[in-house]
Amino acid sequence: MGIKVKRNGFTLPLHVYQLISWVLTLFDLTSISIVFLRHRQFLPLSIIYYFLQALVIFLAGYLTASDPTDLSKSSQNNPEDSIINYCSICTLNVSSTSKHCGQCNRCVENFDHHCKLLNNCVGKTNYKFFVGLIVMYLFLNAEIILFSSAVFSEFYDKKKYGEIVISVILIAKCMILFMADGALIGLHVFLRWNNMTTYEYIIQKRNKAAEREKSLKTKENGSPQSKDVNKTVPNTTVINEFFN
Ligand SMILES: [Zn+2]
Ligand SMILES: [Zn+2]
Repeated sequence: MGIKVKRNGFTLPLHVYQLISWVLTLFDLTSISIVFLRHRQFLPLSIIYYFLQALVIFLAGYLTASDPTDLSKSSQNNPEDSIINYCSICTLNVSSTSKHCGQCNRCVENFDHHCKLLNNCVGKTNYKFFVGLIVMYLFLNAEIILFSSAVFSEFYDKKKYGEIVISVILIAKCMILFMADGALIGLHVFLRWNNMTTYEYIIQKRNKAAEREKSLKTKENGSPQSKDVNKTVPNTTVINEFFN
């Protein structure tokens, strides 16, 4: 039999980061439902939390279940000029913007990146949902920080240790995730502005680092090799390393 193709993020094996994200979500849901919801004064904050949490779970579930595989080879309607690449691993004609994901073993049109948290590729068909997810996730973390801070200030003097411990854990965790997610949103704003995908950005960065290393070595060895020669050599080693 051939290589196993991963069609979506629920295809086994699941990724450890994906499992961690599920556990963290379950922790938020249970601790807020059991510890915070006992106090009726927090009902409005709870309603906003459940709404944002439900939206994030829906978007993450949709993205995990989505199949961004390039179907150019099976479509009869695709214009001839959009099918100009041949993938030697899939042994199929694919779109010019497709890249082969080594972790899923399939080509993805407008390949952005393989997301370990979703255990799936992000590309043409699901990129908008991915952006929606990271934006909603920022709101969710901000809401949990506000909610936990309100609980903390209410119960700190009353020495209710359950509420205090849970709110401190949630504030610390959500602060880290808020900053990491904010940086990710910033990166995608930068990429959209420069009309690049995450994949192109990473390859460009790696190629620049490899070029710098080569020119340093050239200087050390005193070789007359020109920098322009390095520029024209496609860095296939770097690309292969990224996908495997
Ligand atoms: Zn392929
Ligand atoms: Zn993938």
